[in-house]
Amino acid sequence: MMTKAKFTGTILSVAILIASCTQGQKQSGNTELSNASVSKKHPIIITPDDALTELKNGNQRFLENKQININYKEEIEATKADQRPHSLILSCVDSRIPPEIIFDQGIGNIFVVRVAGNIEDPNILGSMEFATKIKGTKLIVVMGHTKCGAIKGVIDNAELGNLTQLLAQIKPAITGDKSNMELMLTETAKKNVELTIADILNQSPVISELIKDGKLKIAGAIYDVATGKVSFL
Ligand SMILES: [Zn+2]
Repeated sequence: MMTKAKFTGTILSVAILIASCTQGQKQSGNTELSNASVSKKHPIIITPDDALTELKNGNQRFLENKQININYKEEIEATKADQRPHSLILSCVDSRIPPEIIFDQGIGNIFVVRVAGNIEDPNILGSMEFATKIKGTKLIVVMGHTKCGAIKGVIDNAELGNLTQLLAQIKPAITGDKSNMELMLTETAKKNVELTIADILNQSPVISELIKDGKLKIAGAIYDVATGKVSFL
């Protein structure tokens, strides 16, 4: 025979079970809804500062594993007629730093230019001028990273085919001393970002003009391959 206490306990268990099932359904339903609604209405980006805020928010979403730009089929559909990326990222070829992923930007939201050591050349400047002047991109980010092989190559005076002239372009950025190699790599990567930004401004009147008119900003950043965090300089 069931005692009153046992009976109450059974009711309570059933109630908890029903509540947890309902909650589970609700949560999964909400997740689907929020993903669909967010990816259909990207944040409205009008100014360069809006673009910078979205990149900072995107890296935070990536760090917290709360990405919203992951419905690639929907993004292909949304961008099949045209593209209006809000930012352009110039980064290293390093396999650990795909900008679309680390900024949670999916398809169609950012232009990406990648070259070992994230330096500029006339082809890259031309790509930046297309992005900013023709497609209305609001922000250029030059992003270096920790533990960069290209920076290490520069410090070690590495020579190899066409890589030799590429590394020579980074050489003026060397900062610090080899007694603390990790610090030297990071400080040189930062200096390289600063020098690359200065070169872009010096060598592209198109970009300088857009910045002067307030239509464009250029920012430097360092990506930490050990944490996934982007720090803007
Ligand atoms: Zn690198």
